[in-house]
Amino acid sequence: MGAPGCGKGTQSSLLASATGIDSISTGEILRQAAQESTADGLRLRQIMASGGLVDDATVCDAVISRIRNMQCGSGSLILDGFPRTLAQAKKLSRVLEALGIDPPLVLHLDVPTDILVQRLTRRRQCALCGAIYNLASASLARCEADGGPLIERADDNEEVILKRLAAYEMETLPVLDYYRRGREGSYRRVDGCLTAAEIANDVRDIVLLDRAAPVATWAGRIRSAPSQLSTSRIRSVPSGVTS
Ligand code: AMP
Repeated sequence: MGAPGCGKGTQSSLLASATGIDSISTGEILRQAAQESTADGLRLRQIMASGGLVDDATVCDAVISRIRNMQCGSGSLILDGFPRTLAQAKKLSRVLEALGIDPPLVLHLDVPTDILVQRLTRRRQCALCGAIYNLASASLARCEADGGPLIERADDNEEVILKRLAAYEMETLPVLDYYRRGREGSYRRVDGCLTAAEIANDVRDIVLLDRAAPVATWAGRIRSAPSQLSTSRIRSVPSGVTS
């Protein structure tokens, strides 16, 4: 979890590569749904272009169906960008409890607001693979991995960025408090100002430590994870890739 631009997308894909755990991004799911030429697609496009949050029912439906499917998969899931409201957090708690899955390990990528604004205005994304670049650290025109064009996200302009940050402060900070107070999950703060590779190492250490907790605590999260989490993908993060 964390504010727009904190590095959730970069870190969840690095963690997914390192652990083999599936990762879902509610932002990506919603961006795809918003491309549909339907009334629902238009509604989502308008909400996201304005910097607001999509309604809880739509987001919860998308995430919860995947959590139910996870029962037949690895038994674990990385949630990137969910929950973002107290209603979503409480719904998640109820669903996990009903399914007999442990409460989540909550990783908060903490980054000061001025740095977030700077990062978001400089962020570009590969149109093909979704890799994220920061123009300050890599003045590239094409993706280093597949040569895809680097594009600016429609909601990464300054006016919309400020609205997204306001929505984060109003709706999502209370969720972090909810977890910080030990309600329904274990909260860990991660310094989101370090390099992508350093953050990835911190995230991996926290996950490994959590894994070392009593089996009953860990089992619900990573029932069939590899015995050693590989860090090779994290170490090989391209220099231009950042949050
Ligand atoms: P992201 O890619 O995580 O920055 O999300 C992009 C946009 O998708 C956000 O600004 C919201 O409009 C929407 N969104 C993503 N996740 C959620 C969520 N959990 N709840 C509500 N809206 C969301």
